[in-house]
Amino acid sequence: MPRCPDCNKFRGVELLDPEVNNLDVNEAAITFSVQIVAACEECSTELLQYDFEDVEIEFRPPDHDCNEDFLKVEEENCTAVERQATSGKAYGYELSLKVTCTECGKMWQYDMRDEIPASSMEEV
Ligand SMILES: [Zn+2]
Ligand SMILES: [Zn+2]
Repeated sequence: MPRCPDCNKFRGVELLDPEVNNLDVNEAAITFSVQIVAACEECSTELLQYDFEDVEIEFRPPDHDCNEDFLKVEEENCTAVERQATSGKAYGYELSLKVTCTECGKMWQYDMRDEIPASSMEEV
């Protein structure tokens, strides 16, 4: 457990809402990064963070031939996940994405989740 520099106590941490960055889509893949942050339970000072960088989901929908310039990707929902695994505490995220084609109106939904051991979190 990290020592909080603000309240100067060993306190529990709570996960804040994750931040999704560099969300993009092309004709082969959806790419993004997610940052999760754990803050002091007592005073909300940010203490630990982890970046899931350059995540890639394969995107090859069948029966779709429009140019990739018409594709648009949006974040629907992203939540932080905290889980007690047998090996210890794990932190991660669950992300829902929606890809739409502005040319033909088709829509695809994707869910992604990942987690790391709490010990892999880095100090802010
Ligand atoms: Zn604190
Ligand atoms: Zn299309």
